[in-house]
Amino acid sequence: MNIITRFAPSPTGYLHLGNIRVALYSWLFARNNKGKFFLRIEDTDIKRYNKKYVDNIFYLLDWLGLYWDNNVYFQSKNIDLYNYYIDLLLNKGLAYKCYCSYERLINIRKKCILSKIKPKYDGYCRNKNLNYKNIKYVVRFKNLLSDNVKFKDLIFGKLNFKNKELDDFIIKRSNGLPTYNFCVVIDDNEMLITDIIRGSEHINNTPKQINLLKSLNFKKPRYIHLPIILDKYKKKLSKRNYTYNINNYIDNGYLPNTLISYLLKLGIYNNNLEINDINKLKSIFNFNNINKSPCIIDDNKIIILNKYYINNIGYNSLIYYIKPFFLDKNINMNKINNIYKIFFVILERIYFLYQIVDFYILINNNNFKLDLNVLNKFNLKYNIIIKIFIKKFNKLYFWSIQNIKYIINNYVNKNNLKNKYIYSLLRYILIGKRHGIDLFKIIFILNKKEVLLRLNNCCKI
Ligand SMILES: [Zn+2]
Repeated sequence: MNIITRFAPSPTGYLHLGNIRVALYSWLFARNNKGKFFLRIEDTDIKRYNKKYVDNIFYLLDWLGLYWDNNVYFQSKNIDLYNYYIDLLLNKGLAYKCYCSYERLINIRKKCILSKIKPKYDGYCRNKNLNYKNIKYVVRFKNLLSDNVKFKDLIFGKLNFKNKELDDFIIKRSNGLPTYNFCVVIDDNEMLITDIIRGSEHINNTPKQINLLKSLNFKKPRYIHLPIILDKYKKKLSKRNYTYNINNYIDNGYLPNTLISYLLKLGIYNNNLEINDINKLKSIFNFNNINKSPCIIDDNKIIILNKYYINNIGYNSLIYYIKPFFLDKNINMNKINNIYKIFFVILERIYFLYQIVDFYILINNNNFKLDLNVLNKFNLKYNIIIKIFIKKFNKLYFWSIQNIKYIINNYVNKNNLKNKYIYSLLRYILIGKRHGIDLFKIIFILNKKEVLLRLNNCCKI
C-alpha cells in the first residue's frame, strides 16, 4: 500500500511546536515509506481566517524543509463537493434537517448538565423528515443508536466508543457551511489519505468521523494520535501563546535542525538519546517508539541542541541562516570580509544565531567612549603599558592567536603583573567592555591595523 499522509492546519493563528510536530511526523512517515505527503489548508472558519496565516504556513514548512507533494488543497475551494455529499446523506435518510431554536438547544443542554449526563442533542427532529422553506436549519448526521465504534490507534492501541454516547452532530451549519468533522472525512477520502496523524485532542472526533465515512462507504484510514504536548508549566500549547510559536524560535535565532531534532527525540522512548545526526534520527523514527503519556517541553534541551547545530551546520549554511539577522540591523553581509573568522572566534560561545550579529556589532563599534576614571583604576601607568603593546603588536608579523597570546603573557610574566588586570584593561580599550569574550580572539579578529588604531586613540585621552 502506498502511504499517503497529510498536514491539515487551519489558518487561524501561527503554528506552534505541537502543530509542527504533527507536520514533521506526517512528512517523515510518508518519506520513510516512499509515500506521499499532502498539505491541506482548512480555511472554512471565515471569522478567524487570515491570509497572513496561510502564507506563514508555507513559509514555516519551507524553513523546516518539510516539502509537500502536489498542489495545496484548500477546503474553501471544495464547498460544492461537501454540499454534494450532504445532499446525498439527506436523500439516503442518513442525515436530517434540524429546525430547533437556539433557546431549545440551550435548554436541552441545561437539562443534561442538571442530570449530570454528557450534553447532547435529544433527536427531536431526527425522524420527522422536516423541510420548511425560508426557515434556517442545520443538517445533523443520523448517528447509530446502538453498537460501538472501535478502532486501533498505532500509539493509543484499541479504542472503543459507545454510539449511544455520540451526538447527532451537525454537519452543515445554519450559515450553509459544512462543519469540521464533515469536511475532514470528505477531504481525507478525496485525497486518498491512508494514515491520519494528528494530536490526541482529536481522539474524540474519530468515532464520529468513522461513522460518517462508513455511511458514505469510504475506506477507513489508519489513525495515529500523538500524545499531548505541554509547556514547562504543564499547560497545553496554544496558537495565542507566542513562546512556542515557530516564528518566535526563528526570531530568536534557532535553526530548523534544532526543532526537528528536538521533536524527533521527543517521539523516541529514550529522548536523552545522544544522537544528533538528523539523518540518523529520521531513519530510526518509528511510531512504535512513541510513549502515549504527555510530552513536556524542555526549553533548556532545545537551547543546548541549538548550540550544537550552530556549531555543526557548516559555515555556508550558517551564512544563509544569519543573513536575515544582519539585514535586520541594516548590515549588508556581502561587505563583511571576515565572517569566517567571526564564526571561528564566536561559535563555541553562543547559543543563538543573533549573537553572531551582536558580536559583529560589538567589535565593529569604534565609537564607544573610554572613561578616564576606569582606565586609571586599572593601572595609573596604563599609558606606558599601552605604548609598549603598540610597539610589540607593530612588530608582530604573523597575526595569530598563538602569537598574540605569547606577546601579552610574556609581558605580564616579565613584569610580575596580574594577567586578569591586563586582559581586562586591553579588552576595555579595544571594545569598551571589561568582561566577556576571550581577549586574544578579540585582538585576532580586530586585525593589526584596527588594534593599533584603537590603542593609539586611547593614548590620546
Ligand atoms: Zn431539531
